[in-house]
Amino acid sequence: MSSFARTFGMSRRRFLTATAAAGLGTGAVLIGSPNARAAAAPTVYDTTAWGARPPSSPVSLAGNDPNKIVVHHTAFANTPDTGQAGSFAIAHEIQDLHMDTNGWIDTGQHFTISRSGLVMEGRHRSLERLRAGSDMVVGAHTVGQNSQGIGIENNGTYITATPPQVLYTSLVAFCAYICSQYGLDPSEIYGHRDFDDTQCPGDVLYGMLPQLRKDVAATV
Ligand SMILES: [Zn+2]
Repeated sequence: MSSFARTFGMSRRRFLTATAAAGLGTGAVLIGSPNARAAAAPTVYDTTAWGARPPSSPVSLAGNDPNKIVVHHTAFANTPDTGQAGSFAIAHEIQDLHMDTNGWIDTGQHFTISRSGLVMEGRHRSLERLRAGSDMVVGAHTVGQNSQGIGIENNGTYITATPPQVLYTSLVAFCAYICSQYGLDPSEIYGHRDFDDTQCPGDVLYGMLPQLRKDVAATV
């Protein structure tokens, strides 16, 4: 896998994207799209923006590019998480749960999308690697896929409920950006249950994955 990633290396497009992002500080970062082939860069609120706790020990890099995206739901209640305040509160709740209850070093997933459609960094350095378009942080979201799959937690429970349109729209745009940065095919978008014995990301969201792959492919 490592040799695969190295063989293809960083494309000129990815290099330009990384360069464009390099001058920007932390916070809400709108990453410029260097040419028409790259998917439009969504706004991503990094760990500094939402005031994350530092990891309890340094996060690890996988040493390879991801080969897939894994879609999750948080299984939290489908209550409003409106705007930055509501969305950042969800990011804190997840981090506290993962660090204090699960005993993990940091938030498990790489990214989180709130029900109001805000995209936030989960585990530290995930956005740095995504901006660069090379390597990935080792996550804690799916057994056997934590060094290969970018994990996205979508806030809510989608066993019978349908994700809000704003969440889905953000998920499409963000998956397209990930595919563009890492050179991933949209067919490499999976649900957590494809790898573990879990109902995550819920029957409804799981049932939307074929459409998600199509919508991402149309965006990339
Ligand atoms: Zn999951």
